[in-house]
Amino acid sequence: GGQGRLIVVSNRVALPDQTATGGLASAMRAALQERGGLWFGWSGKVARQTGGEVHRIKDGIVEYATIDLSRADHDDFYNGFANRTLWPLLHYRPDLVDYDRKHLAGYLRVNNLFAEELMSLIGPHDLVWINDFHLIPLAAMLRERGIRNRIGFFLHTPLPAAGLLIALPRHRELLETLASYDLVGLHTPRDRRALEEYFLHEVGATMRRDGRLQTPGGRMFRAEVFPIGIDTREVADSASHANEHEEIHQLRHSLEGRALIIGVDRLDYSKGLPERFQAYARLLERSPQLHRKVSFLQIAPPSRGGVPEYRQIRRDLERSAGHINGMYAAPDWVPIRYVNNSFAHDLLSGYYRTARVGLVTPLRDGMNLVAKEYVASQDPNDPGVLVLSRFAGAAQELGNDALLVNPADTEEVAEALGIALTMPLPERRARWRRMMDVLEKQDVTAWRNAFLQRLAQ
Ligand code: UDP
Repeated sequence: GGQGRLIVVSNRVALPDQTATGGLASAMRAALQERGGLWFGWSGKVARQTGGEVHRIKDGIVEYATIDLSRADHDDFYNGFANRTLWPLLHYRPDLVDYDRKHLAGYLRVNNLFAEELMSLIGPHDLVWINDFHLIPLAAMLRERGIRNRIGFFLHTPLPAAGLLIALPRHRELLETLASYDLVGLHTPRDRRALEEYFLHEVGATMRRDGRLQTPGGRMFRAEVFPIGIDTREVADSASHANEHEEIHQLRHSLEGRALIIGVDRLDYSKGLPERFQAYARLLERSPQLHRKVSFLQIAPPSRGGVPEYRQIRRDLERSAGHINGMYAAPDWVPIRYVNNSFAHDLLSGYYRTARVGLVTPLRDGMNLVAKEYVASQDPNDPGVLVLSRFAGAAQELGNDALLVNPADTEEVAEALGIALTMPLPERRARWRRMMDVLEKQDVTAWRNAFLQRLAQ
């Protein structure tokens, strides 16, 4: 038929019986459930051999096709090049970039394997949507095999300025392949400018009148901004039913009237957690009147335990939380509640709603969905205040009404916490209403529709 399917490709696939954690997974699942299609990616399983059999599952109008990775491919591609080279580079941490040709070879090997398996799944009119930094060269590899379909790419991380991108050995071989897409989506104008600057100055591309970039080789593609949203109505709904969870009552009861500050982050060095703990300690140091009147709950589920930098930050935070609690705790008061567990969305929204302050201070973050979820979870009559890093993509949309901070400036963050804790109700309401208007208009459905419409045009 003339109307093709939607084919979504991402490193991880959320199968029907799995909960979709993270923004990417829930956005892709919703897009596929609405219009039908296929989701292709890694099964999440490490097996004796890469590839082998493609596991196919059908769930209504959505089909899932996944492949296993061998231990070596998982180590080189995922733990290696994706998480130890690209992730720190894209989050402005060249000091943490670990470059190893063996890892790059694994990355290219897995991308080639994805291309090989996808070939037989793509119909002539299908729309292909490839996600995130694990799969940058995939379109180029599909094009080499003769695929002429519309192919879009969305980068869910920041993209640093060209001056930093060139620190990656053989950067052009990798980054120039972005030109094989028809559309490259980014979260913020800053990320888009970085891509444009890289192509103009490092690749020697030109900007055409129609807004597309053209490489010296003649490839043309479009780079545009699509800030990802959340399912605002669902988050607000589930927060308003928070009372139904025993855990929420237990948290409220345990506070004994203290104001709650909440942080929720994967345990990742990009999230600014050590700086955040320092800022909270600074608040306690300069505001003795807050002692025993405030409580900071940091939820930080460990991630990427196979990567040494993640084991290190985990140790650092344990020490820091212990140190701060040792300094300030009283027999009946623990200043920091540090929890290395993950929680389901409906429970999280209740925790957010209980907190007077949402403290979201990544050093760099593509978007940061937690910031948006915190706002959407608030009680409209008595909303809390968002303290937000200016280096989160979310600052682009919420920056006027959140309290914006530089996460490295512990003094500034401590000050913002003080302001947030004492902000009068009318101001809290006015700020919250304006942020909520943005979140209602630019929700996740609007995001994926905008991207897919542009790709299909
Ligand atoms: N999240 C969750 N349970 C947890 C911690 C986080 O479901 O215990 C979710 C959170 O609600 C959000 C996502 O994980 O939807 C994190 O997305 P974000 O953009 O904030 O950061 P990322 O982890 O993608 O860097």
